[in-house]
Amino acid sequence: MSAVSRVLGVALDFVLPPRCPACGVQTGSTGGLCTECWRGLRFLAPPHCAQCGYPFEMDFGPGVRCGACLAQAPHYDRARSAVAYDDTIARILISFKHGDRTDLGPGLSAWMRRAGADLLMEADIIAPVPLHRRRLFARRYNQSMLLARPLAQAFGKPLVGDLVLRARITQSQGHLSPAARRRNVEGAFRTNPDRKGALAGRRVLLIDDVLTTGATVNAIARRLKRDGAEAVDVLTLARVVRETAV
Ligand SMILES: [Zn+2]
Ligand SMILES: [Zn+2]
Repeated sequence: MSAVSRVLGVALDFVLPPRCPACGVQTGSTGGLCTECWRGLRFLAPPHCAQCGYPFEMDFGPGVRCGACLAQAPHYDRARSAVAYDDTIARILISFKHGDRTDLGPGLSAWMRRAGADLLMEADIIAPVPLHRRRLFARRYNQSMLLARPLAQAFGKPLVGDLVLRARITQSQGHLSPAARRRNVEGAFRTNPDRKGALAGRRVLLIDDVLTTGATVNAIARRLKRDGAEAVDVLTLARVVRETAV
């Protein structure tokens, strides 16, 4: 490294010190987690439920679904997520969504490529889940779009940002029971009438930041299939993994 670039690097770091988006400590490079936060993440990989992607403790073979999916099959075909939701992810998402760290989009979406490789390759259309939880925070951008755009580019798929429209603003979901969440999101979404023609017989991949109960993506999948979609898959950055869910 030359003296000039060393001086420039120091100067840039002074202006914009790269910080871990989860814990705020200064890191050696921009856009990444610190080593400690990175090591704490739980990346999700098979075996898992063939439909909702819930992680299994042991491999039951291909095509096996979890108890929840057997009891009541979701409207979506497959859901996959990169990491288990935890405090680190929660802090990253606060930086990403409410702290103007839009620069995190490409890096976070790269985590989703391995978990969602099959879904990404088989998709005809990639679409973000429209902005929600609007009552809590006013935001200038849709974080799902920031995750979807680099994925669509990497896999050469059409990105349709306005495929799904929010018919009304739903209540904040955080404090609601699963049944109440379902009621809350039913009828909350509609297919963009201008996009219905492009939907017939196509396989849609929905992109979102977190899968919690799946009520939101389930409601959207139901709507899209009623409007002609052949299949609807879901890929999220993180998912809530409750140890009692299976
Ligand atoms: Zn950290
Ligand atoms: Zn399942």
